[in-house]
Amino acid sequence: MSALFVSDCHLSPERPHIMDCFAGFLRGRARRAGQLFILGDLFDYWIGDDDPAEEFAGVFRELAALGARIPVWFIAGNRDFMAGAQFARRTGCRLLPDLHVFNADRPTLLMHGDLLCTADITYQRYRRVIRHPLTMAAARRLKLDWRRRIALSLRQNSRRAMAGKSEAVMDVEQRAVTACMRRFSVRRLIHGHTHRPAIHDFTLDGEPAQRIVLGDWYEQGSVLELDNGRLRVQPPD
Ligand code: MN
Repeated sequence: MSALFVSDCHLSPERPHIMDCFAGFLRGRARRAGQLFILGDLFDYWIGDDDPAEEFAGVFRELAALGARIPVWFIAGNRDFMAGAQFARRTGCRLLPDLHVFNADRPTLLMHGDLLCTADITYQRYRRVIRHPLTMAAARRLKLDWRRRIALSLRQNSRRAMAGKSEAVMDVEQRAVTACMRRFSVRRLIHGHTHRPAIHDFTLDGEPAQRIVLGDWYEQGSVLELDNGRLRVQPPD
């Protein structure tokens, strides 16, 4: 049975056609797969599991319906790392840690990908602070409307900061990629985050290695299928 991979859907009521497209994918194409991996930034932002998030009710229904049929795995991204156990219960998603080795035809490391953007020192510093358990615990104590205001301003700040950063700084660093792959003894890595879909072939310690970058869903859906060692990029329907 095939495994499907998506990331960076950035679901938001600001892009209703993408919400529909993703719901349609969950109801259709995804049901014919053996499992689905969501590799982060499913939402444009997720401020905490206590948010009723009515705007996503339709997507959650489809996720839960899919999750009752096949395993749906979720790795948090930089926009939805506040998703926790309640989110998992509500959607039927099974939470995975930031780095996870999926034993397909060969061990395949899965991650969102922001950890690999090591040239962006300001971002990595910010990430360490914002993802610290104490910061997250403090954030959960804030009222929802405060958290929403902070999320919106963080999103604006990141847009402004990205405008001032070079393309190279915002991409992954190859030495971070190889270090990570060595650490987990894998020769295949799948991630998102950079919104630069591609399949990069290279040699790692004398062996062929592959890094697959998933596409984002800003304009249209993008799905990667892994079936018996064969990789295919597909539209969501
Ligand atoms: Mn991201």
